[in-house]
Amino acid sequence: MNLCVITLVMLSWCCGRLTAKPIQTGNQTDSAVAEEIKRARDALLWLQFFEYAEKNDTVEDCLSCEIEECDGDCLVKLNNILSQPLRDMKEFYRIHPLDGNLTEEVLKKMSEYRCKEKDIPEADDITNAKVTDDKAEDHVRVKRYSRLANQRWDLQRTPVLTISFLDYLQKFTPAQQEQIAAECATLWAKPSGLAFQIKPYSGATNIGISHTYIDGPYNSLGSGMSPTPYSNGYSFLKLDRAEPWKLRNSSPGQGVSLKWAMCHEMGHNLDFGHSQDRSSIMYPSAGYGLEQLSPRDVQGVVNLYGRANGKTVVEQQYSPSQ
Ligand SMILES: [Zn+2]
Repeated sequence: MNLCVITLVMLSWCCGRLTAKPIQTGNQTDSAVAEEIKRARDALLWLQFFEYAEKNDTVEDCLSCEIEECDGDCLVKLNNILSQPLRDMKEFYRIHPLDGNLTEEVLKKMSEYRCKEKDIPEADDITNAKVTDDKAEDHVRVKRYSRLANQRWDLQRTPVLTISFLDYLQKFTPAQQEQIAAECATLWAKPSGLAFQIKPYSGATNIGISHTYIDGPYNSLGSGMSPTPYSNGYSFLKLDRAEPWKLRNSSPGQGVSLKWAMCHEMGHNLDFGHSQDRSSIMYPSAGYGLEQLSPRDVQGVVNLYGRANGKTVVEQQYSPSQ
């Protein structure tokens, strides 16, 4: 009896392998598989977009097929490829258990409005992140603040960072948007002693704010370029025109905070990477980020710029050898 069952199971498995066919719609099971494939595919696209996963030719067909016509093996293939990137993503967002399973909590996180920049920096940059580490978490692979490009503004050459709007959102007046930029500049300037000046764009500026169409389905709000500490250095701060902006979290109605996005991206302009701390302005998604710096942010700014601005340059602390 048991032997019969085993034989039947093996036959069924073999036949399944030999005759993998497109998913047939019209019954409950296949519809469920199609739904699973869609979830896994969307998750992989998200993970690729934010550089948790690399492009992989072996699932190219599974990413482009009509869902109802995808090969039944796509679910297995996608789940295999998803496993490690999902672990990495869960580690960054502290979603437990740290396994390779695609859960509702993961999907919810992926649906949040967020910054376009990646969460985990290149390996070379991680070694340079020590100066802003939380010491108690030295063992954590992703540092609390990992710097994006290992560059800072040259404060000798650029004692005052200029901020200019290259264009404006139509929804608000220029004065309203400049006010938000001023509030963000004050936010970052306060703990560091950095000086900012908002001035009309005249062909040159240090931080250039502009608006564009960044993405379709990924809810990316904006991006910010690391410091360009050269002569006439220019770093962009781009915000997505297509988002349902409101000026601040406290502004009435639905929408996503322009102040959060602008202050967050300005953090990238100062070379801050993403923080795992939900109370930090540098947390990647807007759902939890505050419009003000957390104590950890403040310490990060002081570490990065405070003493440098006071002429005691902390260059040696960024040595890759540390
Ligand atoms: Zn960001």
